[in-house]
Amino acid sequence: MKTCSTCGLAKPLDSFGNRKYKQSIGHRASCRGCERANIKKWSAKNADHVRQYRATNRGRQMAYNATNREKLAQQGIEYRKREAVALARNENRKRNSEPRTRIIGALEIQKREEHRSIGGKQLS
Ligand SMILES: [Zn+2]
Repeated sequence: MKTCSTCGLAKPLDSFGNRKYKQSIGHRASCRGCERANIKKWSAKNADHVRQYRATNRGRQMAYNATNREKLAQQGIEYRKREAVALARNENRKRNSEPRTRIIGALEIQKREEHRSIGGKQLS
């Protein structure tokens, strides 16, 4: 259990986000609920900033994607291959050695591709 520094409630450790840096083992001072509320509050307070940031960066991202389409496609293929290999290798290992979202993301891609290939077979 850990006490959240924002709401003052004692909560189990998995209610706290992990710190990003591996060398400093620990959890964030505020629980996930408070972190989320903080982000929401900040975004509402800085709505103009958020909107402008998105608008500027969307354009930049789109321009980058347009000029690097082939490179990005290749990177995507290689990324998925790497994830599939890593996933197979980690299957018998403890799951929490890898960030959970990446495992879920890779699984979803795999599922989607399986689904697509099944759909293709049914059509032909
Ligand atoms: Zn809290």
